[in-house]
Amino acid sequence: MADAHLVNNPLTPNRAIQFDADLCTQCNACVEVCRCDVLAPSPGPGEPPVLVYPDECWFCGCCVAHCPSPGAIRMEHPLCQQVGWKRKETGEQFRLGMADPPPAYVRPPVGGWGPPSKGR
Ligand code: SF4
Ligand code: SF4
Repeated sequence: MADAHLVNNPLTPNRAIQFDADLCTQCNACVEVCRCDVLAPSPGPGEPPVLVYPDECWFCGCCVAHCPSPGAIRMEHPLCQQVGWKRKETGEQFRLGMADPPPAYVRPPVGGWGPPSKGR
């Protein structure tokens, strides 16, 4: 009979959860609290839990909050959730959780900075 192996999902670009194998103690607390069953238990010593269904992650943060080993697990938010905004008067850029955001993006969009024309 052939062996069956559970592996990190290689097909999706979404890497919702990142582990640091050096810090993870394989306690599987993150697996137990995940409300979406995104993770599978650690397969063995030195190996963190398996990210089986990254696209099912709700980014609730329970796994990170319950981890007893700081830095062993973190969330990687998708680009569409990495919100940024700009103060019109000064061009200052702001992003959630970013203490030192990059400089303002000054290249004008196609059609310039003017008000949108009718039908656009
Ligand atoms: S962020 Fe929430 S849904 Fe995603 S893996 Fe962690 S506990 Fe599960
Ligand atoms: S809760 Fe933290 S230490 Fe425990 S298995 Fe998950 S990532 Fe590793």
